[in-house]
Amino acid sequence: MADEQQPHGAICEVCGQDMLNSKGCLATIIIDGVEYQRIPMGADDDFYGGEEMADVKRCGDCAAWRGHCHHWGCDCERCPICGGQLLSCDCGEEFEFK
Ligand SMILES: [Zn+2]
Ligand SMILES: [Zn+2]
Ligand SMILES: [Zn+2]
Repeated sequence: MADEQQPHGAICEVCGQDMLNSKGCLATIIIDGVEYQRIPMGADDDFYGGEEMADVKRCGDCAAWRGHCHHWGCDCERCPICGGQLLSCDCGEEFEFK
């Protein structure tokens, strides 16, 4: 495996796609049994929302394209419940995707 490592070319464990070579991740997250729409890269509530980020085409962390969802584990994905960083908030314990 070690010889296949790339800085940002990881396989997303949720969608199974190579992050660099895909548009983005699955759009729905199920948090403790409740379905939510994930916040896409570049949405108003997203880390990349707002005018100063309008020129950024892809997420610098997970490489999702504007308008598509961040791959799982991305530092920039927002929580659809609290609006905070999904990785570090306490809104859920079990996550599923579809
Ligand atoms: Zn993904
Ligand atoms: Zn991202
Ligand atoms: Zn949250």
